[in-house]
Amino acid sequence: PPASHRLVARDVRLRYEDFTALDGVDLSVASGQVTALVGANGAGKSTLFHCLCGTLRPDAGRVELDGADITRRSAHARTRLGIARTFQQLAVFPSLTVEENVRIGAEQQRRRRRDPAAVEPVLRLLELDGPIRDRIAAGLSTGALRRVELGRALAGRPHTLLLDEPTAGLDAAEAEALARILMALAADGTAVLIVEHDLDLVARVADTVHVMEAGRIVR
Ligand code: ATP
Repeated sequence: PPASHRLVARDVRLRYEDFTALDGVDLSVASGQVTALVGANGAGKSTLFHCLCGTLRPDAGRVELDGADITRRSAHARTRLGIARTFQQLAVFPSLTVEENVRIGAEQQRRRRRDPAAVEPVLRLLELDGPIRDRIAAGLSTGALRRVELGRALAGRPHTLLLDEPTAGLDAAEAEALARILMALAADGTAVLIVEHDLDLVARVADTVHVMEAGRIVR
């Protein structure tokens, strides 16, 4: 069985000047589960997401991976530890092909974890293994681009996957396909966190839902 991992935020606090964005947040993301973070615009979801990724550093509190303090680890270091992320704004390389974009994800891992063979199952899972694999990313539909970005994250064989609004810009069928993929990943042992506005999707895929309001988890 795959090793079990847990990414934890403990009493995380962050202020933007005199505005309190995170007011003592506790959250846990565990292997084999989809954890969702929901809440109104401005509740602090993206800020918390950045603290977990390492693109923002909390003013107080800790971020831990399997009990080890990673609060001061860079985003890059966290990627190498096996924590992958996607972006609310799509971040694919427009002039590269679908397959090349996904391969870049595999290159981002430490040498001993790199596995070129890991790319094929990822392309298959995301239904990017047909003729689309050789297409240039520029000009693909939003749905395809979201899958390419997810593929780039998965190619590094992460144990933990952090997804910021993965269904933004997707139609109902594409969102449904994504839901199935997320459940398959969790069933396979990946720890998945989604920040998501689509509550129907959240209700279907999430094992645990955290509701944020004004910098706190209220439910
Ligand atoms: P959304 O769903 O709109 O992405 P969110 O729940 O992700 O909202 P955050 O983006 O974390 O919320 O923002 C939390 C609060 O912090 C908001 O009121 C926002 O205006 C404020 N904020 C975010 N970034 C900054 C910044 N760099 N400087 C000042 N205030 C900020």
